[in-house]
Amino acid sequence: MTGKNLITVAEGDGIGPEIMAATLHVLEAAQADIEIQKVEIGEKVYLRGETTGIEKQTWDKIRQSKAFLKAPITTPQGGGFKSLNVTVRTTLGLYANVRPCVAYSPFVETKHPEMDVVIIRENEEDLYVGVEYRHTPEYYQALKIITQPGCEKIIRFAFEYALSHGRKKVTCFTKDNILKITDGQFHKVFEEIGKDYPQIEKEHWIVDIGAAKLADTPGAFDVIVMPNLYGDILSDVAAQIAGSVGMAGSANIGTSGAMFEAIHGSAPRRAGQNVANPSGLLLAAVLMLVHIEQPEKAALIHNAWLKTIEEGIHTYDLYREKTSRQKVGTKEFAEAVSKRLGQNPGTLPTVKYGIAKHVQHSLYQAAALIQKDLVGIDIFIQSKGHVDELAEALKKLPTDSFKLTMISNRGVKVWPQSHPETFCVDCWRCRFFQTEAGRVNHQQITKLLSALAEATFDVTQTQYLFTFDGNPGYTL
Ligand code: NAD
Repeated sequence: MTGKNLITVAEGDGIGPEIMAATLHVLEAAQADIEIQKVEIGEKVYLRGETTGIEKQTWDKIRQSKAFLKAPITTPQGGGFKSLNVTVRTTLGLYANVRPCVAYSPFVETKHPEMDVVIIRENEEDLYVGVEYRHTPEYYQALKIITQPGCEKIIRFAFEYALSHGRKKVTCFTKDNILKITDGQFHKVFEEIGKDYPQIEKEHWIVDIGAAKLADTPGAFDVIVMPNLYGDILSDVAAQIAGSVGMAGSANIGTSGAMFEAIHGSAPRRAGQNVANPSGLLLAAVLMLVHIEQPEKAALIHNAWLKTIEEGIHTYDLYREKTSRQKVGTKEFAEAVSKRLGQNPGTLPTVKYGIAKHVQHSLYQAAALIQKDLVGIDIFIQSKGHVDELAEALKKLPTDSFKLTMISNRGVKVWPQSHPETFCVDCWRCRFFQTEAGRVNHQQITKLLSALAEATFDVTQTQYLFTFDGNPGYTL
């Protein structure tokens, strides 16, 4: 390699190769200081039998490079294929997903001309980890995973991003009125880390009403940080209401790598027709140039792109008789941007970038002094009978270390008191709590499980109950 900034490029599937060629054309015309190595990922690799869509040697290439510029890929239908995007983000520890959603009114139609929101989505955790189980014929489950280091990394990143990009406010979206332990922790860490940034306004919204407000009055927001799944959904909503999902780029940032991509998919229906809008990938490449410390080149391309949009040179998805002057294809759009390198927009604000600040995280250390005690166990049992019969049978188990204290069904407590209207399925969460204050030990739990097996209960899952400094680490 020649010592230039090595970038790994994947052309992807569907419209991917066309929008990548357009993006590389502009990067070349702008004389971006990069060297490119191409890799193959996605549909063809999946169909060669690699269930992750990426081959072993490709990881090393990505690791050797400064950044990974990736066009959208198609995940083949049917079981057994893992999402390549999730695999790349989690394998490489790309914990922060940054999605600027900006309106370009009056040149691109939008109901929200004032919109300029950056969504920062946690990228490695939450329901998105895709850990799912089937317990019984009727009962399916997915795990929502939230960790302390995960919360700390993304929330610190959001505040540092706001600070280094001249943003004034960071809003946090969670559903902690319901998910008190998982989303509750995300919110708590937001409040704690927020104290380190007195110059930045902070607010928290419950995600449902926050989403409604975002869709209705996006001007009320600046930077929004949220757990993975809410961020996945709301960043698409935000990009669409700003103008089009075809125009948003995103950065996936980790402590030792970064991937840049458009937020849309491979749009197979539009492939091979030279019609797709390359703007999402091009703006992702702009984010990449900022990341690899070429802010002038990033601004050069971004301003030429704004000028092109302003002049009404639009691909089919943006073309409107009132606001557009010329409908162009993918290649012609890239050509038009390249010709305008060096020009600034006349009406839209000119973009200027500074050197990117890479967020440093001190190595996470779990609080050592937390007293963790095992106090009981939730045992999930498959049964089609009435809850009272189940409770009576469980109470007869030969155990003096535990007492059956509660049975719930789909999260609703149905024993010791139930209501006839409550709909129940064939999986019951049965809570066995210690009979004496203090700690339960694993031998006592093993004895309880043996007793359940002897009595032929159909146990589908067990979940230990812990307290942390005396505070329950479980919900009712
Ligand atoms: P999509 O985003 O690919 O396309 C939906 C529609 O949006 C298209 O039919 C097209 O009308 C429009 N569109 C999207 N991008 C456009 C562009 N650049 N220019 C003009 N119009 C554009 O969503 P989909 O159809 O649900 O998904 C297709 C495939 O993409 C699936 O296999 C999916 O798994 C994959 N996907 C990949 C990524 C990724 O690689 N990052 C992300 C999302 C979806």
